[in-house]
Amino acid sequence: MTKEQESIDISQLLFPNIVESSKDILKRYPKRDVKQGELVLRFAPSPTGFIHIGNIYTSLVGYILTKRSNGVFILRIEDTDKVREVKYGIIQIVEGLRNFGIQFDEGMINEEESKGEYGPYIQSERKDIYKIFAKDLVSKGFAYPCFCTKEELEAIRKEQTDLGSRTGYFGKWAKWRDANSDDIKRELDLGTPFVIRLYSRGNIKNKINSKDLIKGGITLSENDMDSVLLKSDGLPTYHFAHPIDDTLMGISFVLRGDEWLSSQPLHMEIFNALGFEQLQYGHISPLMKMENEGKRKLSKRKDPEFAVSYYVENGYPINGVKDYLLNIANSNFYDWRIQNPQKEILEFDLKLEKFNRAGALFDITKLNDISKEYISTLSAQEVYEYVLEWAEKYNTEIHTKLVNQKDYCLSILNIEREGFKIRKDIVKWSDIPNQFEIFFDDMFKDSQKEEIEIERGVQGEILNEFLDTYYFGDDSTEWFSKIKRIGEKYGFCSDYKEYEKHPKKYKGKIGDVAMILRIAVTGRKQTPDLYQVMQVMGESRVRERITVYINTL
Ligand code: GLU
Repeated sequence: MTKEQESIDISQLLFPNIVESSKDILKRYPKRDVKQGELVLRFAPSPTGFIHIGNIYTSLVGYILTKRSNGVFILRIEDTDKVREVKYGIIQIVEGLRNFGIQFDEGMINEEESKGEYGPYIQSERKDIYKIFAKDLVSKGFAYPCFCTKEELEAIRKEQTDLGSRTGYFGKWAKWRDANSDDIKRELDLGTPFVIRLYSRGNIKNKINSKDLIKGGITLSENDMDSVLLKSDGLPTYHFAHPIDDTLMGISFVLRGDEWLSSQPLHMEIFNALGFEQLQYGHISPLMKMENEGKRKLSKRKDPEFAVSYYVENGYPINGVKDYLLNIANSNFYDWRIQNPQKEILEFDLKLEKFNRAGALFDITKLNDISKEYISTLSAQEVYEYVLEWAEKYNTEIHTKLVNQKDYCLSILNIEREGFKIRKDIVKWSDIPNQFEIFFDDMFKDSQKEEIEIERGVQGEILNEFLDTYYFGDDSTEWFSKIKRIGEKYGFCSDYKEYEKHPKKYKGKIGDVAMILRIAVTGRKQTPDLYQVMQVMGESRVRERITVYINTL
């Protein structure tokens, strides 16, 4: 029997129930009708844990590139690792991405349903497709069954390590690579579990020059490992599923994390073996964090900000987080945003070649700044809507206040939001409860009060005098000149330069007088503009706060 015939026979023995050929499958997935320049990209997470900020980063990039090109964005679920799979993993992915406004044109929409013509979009339901291609490869001598047990593989590895050789299943170490059909038949008759491995024709000494869409020109070594294509449970490895799915789904290029860069030669070899056209890759560097003056990858275990739930629960404005991620992706986004504060991110010309090649720094302080900046562009009404949505889930006390006292809440949120000086003290919606505390008597009652080091007697006199002259209808200029007058009367200096020259001559400066008032009304040393705060609180609340404070002196 010829070698060719022997391979065909083995493929038949391995997959007796597979009757379709790879040609039939290729017919089932016709070439997409896309115009020049329209991109078809996919985001392909595994349901193996919570969705993290790196996932959002990668999917945001794919989303923007496809939308801008009028193309197609696909969500494919890669659930071939049944051991690491978590319960509700798919729902977490779908909801996490939805929370960030990342929309897909095709793919899974929940655990069971999908949309699009190029499915199934979940790999466990594509089992037969992979088997068809595996059978095809075996029949052509590009793949073979391997019956090695875990122990045997460990023994090979140990021997390699002892000899100081490269480890792995390849070349002369690959026990089943050139096994004869009698041995294979015997194992099959015994029912021994097997995997299907690639029959690698590569040579590690050969170099491949490739152009990565993000990293630019790179040189890699050819693959020579007989890597597993189909596992003993019949499911494919990532290495095998990737060329098949991305080809059948008509993907334009592969955008993925750069942990896969070292496997690219293996993937290229599988593309060749399958007779597919090679695809280009764009390998995105991971998000990094500074630690002890060094950079390290953001970690699931160490960094709470790695999980997407962190942003949702803390009420980060999603648009602020997305702005920050785009800053990381293309540093010119920063200037663009300053020039175009109101534009949609889809209007930004995102470019893969401008990505950081090594590893982009994710800095929560920077994110907070950008978030503050973003919130400062919103109207009180917009802030109200966002806080309402956040509080509904995460803070019932504030939610009730927002619903029952909407106008009062709007006027609180409107402080320093119009005019010349815009407030930038809100990073996330969960900062709001603390800011509301001074405005609501029930919250204020139990709040922590700060103290100032000014003689109690003086404080009392100043506050009594303030109450005597307080007129709610005063504008801010009049309001402040009254404070100045009272201050001067009690020996506080209104001229800062003069005060610096002769501090001893005065009890203090005018800022101290305002501070007495601030502490009496809010219990805090730092607040937004005090005049506006008092106007929003209303006359009777202000008078009551001051009277209560005087009584504690
Ligand atoms: N399931 C793979 C992962 O989560 C996908 C890699 C890819 O996008 O090709 O890393």
